[in-house]
Amino acid sequence: MIGALMTVGAAQGAAQTEDDFNYSNERFADLQMLRYKVEGFDQLTLKQKTLIYHLQEAALWGRDILWDQNGKYNLTIRKALENIYTHYAGDKNSEDWKAFEIYLKRVWFSNGIHHHYACDKFEPGFSEKWFREQLKIVKGLPYSNDEICNVMFNPQVMAKRVNLAEGDDLVKTSASNYYEGITQAEAEAFYAKQKAEGDSIHPVMYGLNSRLTKTKNGDFIERTWTSTGLYGEAITKIVEHLKLARPYAEDAQQQAVIDKLIEYYDTGNLKAFDEYSILWVNNTEPLIDFVNGFIECYGDPLGLKSSWESIVNFKDLEATKRTETLSKNAQWFEDHSPVASEFKKDKVKGITAKVIKAAILAGDLYPSSAIGINLPNSDWVRAEHGSKSVTIGNLTEAYNKAAKGNGMLKEFAYSDEEIAIIEKYGDLTDDLHTDLHECLGHGSGKLLEGVDGDSLKAYGSTIEEARADLFALYYLADPKLVELGLVPNAEAYKASYIGQMQNGLLTQLVRINPGNNIEEAHMRNRALIARWAYEHGKGRESVGSMGEPPIDIIELVKRDGKTYVKINDYHRLRNLFGKLLAEIQRIKSTGDYEAAKNLVENYGVRIDPELHKEVLDRYEKLNIAPYKGFINPVYDAEKDNNGNITDVKISYNEGYAEQMLRYSKDYSALPLVNE
Ligand code: ZN
Repeated sequence: MIGALMTVGAAQGAAQTEDDFNYSNERFADLQMLRYKVEGFDQLTLKQKTLIYHLQEAALWGRDILWDQNGKYNLTIRKALENIYTHYAGDKNSEDWKAFEIYLKRVWFSNGIHHHYACDKFEPGFSEKWFREQLKIVKGLPYSNDEICNVMFNPQVMAKRVNLAEGDDLVKTSASNYYEGITQAEAEAFYAKQKAEGDSIHPVMYGLNSRLTKTKNGDFIERTWTSTGLYGEAITKIVEHLKLARPYAEDAQQQAVIDKLIEYYDTGNLKAFDEYSILWVNNTEPLIDFVNGFIECYGDPLGLKSSWESIVNFKDLEATKRTETLSKNAQWFEDHSPVASEFKKDKVKGITAKVIKAAILAGDLYPSSAIGINLPNSDWVRAEHGSKSVTIGNLTEAYNKAAKGNGMLKEFAYSDEEIAIIEKYGDLTDDLHTDLHECLGHGSGKLLEGVDGDSLKAYGSTIEEARADLFALYYLADPKLVELGLVPNAEAYKASYIGQMQNGLLTQLVRINPGNNIEEAHMRNRALIARWAYEHGKGRESVGSMGEPPIDIIELVKRDGKTYVKINDYHRLRNLFGKLLAEIQRIKSTGDYEAAKNLVENYGVRIDPELHKEVLDRYEKLNIAPYKGFINPVYDAEKDNNGNITDVKISYNEGYAEQMLRYSKDYSALPLVNE
């Protein structure tokens, strides 16, 4: 489960700090490219650098898997676009060319032709006639030019990568490549049957690593992603580099992790994946760690099939003290949460939490990345073996550094007092929010016996993210955090409350096009929390616990035609967060689908068009990109005459287009069509 991106609306105001590292890179469409600094890499031992080197190679080889998972024409279209991009001899000042360049950069960013976050298909800004002219020079494409143009230019074809609109056949209407010739009802029945027939105590994650399709005779068949199955050419390369990394593993346990991962990639056996997850979650000693595999299921409208991703990282020892303090006290937090006792864990199991530095981002974590990760995702593995929770410190740092002084905070904050609080505490409480969300929030609570972890279906991801966020929000204001020395005083948490309410009610709307609903799980969750609190904080419902008179806990204030969020009582707002947390935990623990649906549909989806327009107008004037992503550093291995690595050098000079073209050239193992 990936961490919330809190970068819109919070912590964006402090003065420019001095740092000669260039965090901000090029800007196009709704995107801003950033660089992240891998501080401390040069101080690692040669063995550690070599391990990272091989693991980042294993990471980069998986790229094309994700491209194909995101849509079956993606690799073909990328090849066509890159060919045109590198061989174009026409007028580079023409509008068509300029629009083409932006389109390609967006496709690169999204690993396909749909927006990475909103999931809508990109509308090319160049003419189809111009494009067809350019396409003539491209040879060796598996589809006709008519078919390619139809996919790119016809708005009706593959309109959404992931469609979550209630009432639609979500499988048929989603362009992602996880099902072929299958209806939603068929897919649901297929996996319900697997589940019913399988081990109910230790169920594997059914459907996780395959495409579901039908044979010519109409029988269902899972095309498994293994080194000899679908995507085998890329997986073979990944395995090859995992084998090269193995001798440099930091301990025997980490070697066992790598061995098990290879076994899983070779066999596709989901039991082996669970065994791998257990080995991985228990391997907490090494400085260097990595994720490489089919992990998150946000790309599948049914939430079963996982997209490929990888991150290689090492521990930030200083910052990890913060998360260690939280995980040491995990049981205290569980015991004192406002959740009904029957839904609490009697014994919170081994939550390990650390702050890490990303060394490479790949697959579904590149270029757009989460800033926190909590894995594994299997419910029973988490319950019996715990989970690993990380905050990616150097990405947060890059976001914060790039956002200083961009005008966002000034535009949307209600008062100078709020600005002062956010400038003073915003970075700290953002980090703590992520820590609490990942290492305590997702790990807290339990399902009642016999409740299926997938009962909430399409609403499951939103409810789960809301649960983790509310846990964080509730505890950010707890005196325990002052006592533990994690916040300097009893006021700091206000920065996160302002950020949450502003973001959920106003600023996150900048990521959505006019007329659209909120779709993405993390965004739905933030809207749900903020709007629910706003509604339930009105007038008589808000009587204080000591019988204080009712007030509006949160107000939407209009000033000069602009809407501001004003928090009138932080303490009572905290109580509201606690109340909602208790309800959301009840929904999760009992698998109350109807209640989940009502909460999400009532508070998390629709947008008031007038308010939306106002927010977009204000935002446009600031000229900030709503989405950010990262250019990876480059690792060069220096070798002696025998081919042994003698040093690994890191550099940050590669440009965005340059990096994308290099990856396409050097790390493409898959055919254009994977069937
Ligand atoms: Zn999360």
